[in-house]
Amino acid sequence: MITLPSVAELTQELIRFDTTNPPGNEAGCVAHLQRLLRDAGLQTVVAGASDSRPNLVARLTGRGEAPPLLLQGHVDVVTTAGQAWTRPPFAGEVVDGHVWGRGAIDMKGGVAMMVLATLRFLGDGGAPPGDVVIAVLADEEAGGLEGAGWLAANRPDLFTGIRHALGEGGGFAWYVGGRRFYPLMVAEKRGCQTRAVFRGPGGHGSRPLRGGAMARLGRALVALDSHRMPVHISTATRLMLEGLRDGLPEAPLREQVGRLLDPAQTDSALDQLGEVGWMLDPLLHNNVNATMVRGGIKINVIPSEIELDLDCRLLPGETAESFLPELRGVIGEDAELSVMRQSPPMPEPELGPFFETLRQILREADPDGTPIPYLVSGGTDARHFAQLGIRTYGFLPHNFPEGVAYERAMHDADERVPVSALEFGTDAVHQAILRYRG
Ligand SMILES: [Zn+2]
Repeated sequence: MITLPSVAELTQELIRFDTTNPPGNEAGCVAHLQRLLRDAGLQTVVAGASDSRPNLVARLTGRGEAPPLLLQGHVDVVTTAGQAWTRPPFAGEVVDGHVWGRGAIDMKGGVAMMVLATLRFLGDGGAPPGDVVIAVLADEEAGGLEGAGWLAANRPDLFTGIRHALGEGGGFAWYVGGRRFYPLMVAEKRGCQTRAVFRGPGGHGSRPLRGGAMARLGRALVALDSHRMPVHISTATRLMLEGLRDGLPEAPLREQVGRLLDPAQTDSALDQLGEVGWMLDPLLHNNVNATMVRGGIKINVIPSEIELDLDCRLLPGETAESFLPELRGVIGEDAELSVMRQSPPMPEPELGPFFETLRQILREADPDGTPIPYLVSGGTDARHFAQLGIRTYGFLPHNFPEGVAYERAMHDADERVPVSALEFGTDAVHQAILRYRG
């Protein structure tokens, strides 16, 4: 029997591999986990688009009483460039009960939880009811094309028979009105990268010119800044808001959350809800952010064409066809719009028996917390596994204490995680494996 690290120790070890993406360079981190899992007796496969960016798939054989369950997590991290850190981001220090470093929350801590929750079945733990398949993934932060996307396209054989997965995007304690909630991801938004092209007369920079491409761009940007997109209440958002409302004490907060469910009142209720409204806003609208502008090649030449790239995120059920008229309704007729890249549609959320089990695990682990369904405003690797018919629930429970915005540091300076939250999550993931029946 090998000696296993604690979840905090494994998180520290993983943080010390600098897997900043780009370029990623996940190989060392993946090899470290492969050694641990292989020495513990699991079957392991390493596969990927290149030697420097492999993925790892490990399997623990179960008793055959449940389908295999996938635990999927990425080991690449976002950049630390230009950020002022209190502690070095790749040292993996433990200070004041926290593991510090890039990836502590997103999501090397989560990968450590998954690995140790699985390895707890070794020794006197007995075999789990079904096989446990751990996927350690590269490249999530840049879209997953060399990670989960690559595996789904090239090695679907490694995931045969899997219907459910646990992944990131859920389980972080969230405080509203003094109550603790655990939002568990059941659906995510869909990226729809859109380009707007503005045209107008060009000319010499020495002569007056009004109404050109620059002015049209300016009008569109001001319109985006001053208008919300239309309200849509998707199934996932409705389930989340109902859970939130029912878990809150009486008025006024409960009543304000309830008003979000009436599209005629949604936007005014969001404004009243402050920080909570800011969190919920993207779950009620297709979201648009202007992120890149290209136009002009010389300071004395007025450009006749300017490109504006828009990061658009669509709610479940929305498509480019339904969204582009909405966007035009806000920015007007000046731009020529085209969709550059759209991520695949996701299935409707399913709150079946496994989701109820996940909720029950959290109710037992934290009787004062309320688990609720959650729509993620960004995207995770869940969408790649969805192409194989695998439904991912975001379930990495962290019982953060109130008052510290741990999630805010996720792609920013001073990312850190309480050791106690890592232990809480490892227990919860272990329970999920133990109780999974399909
Ligand atoms: Zn992540």
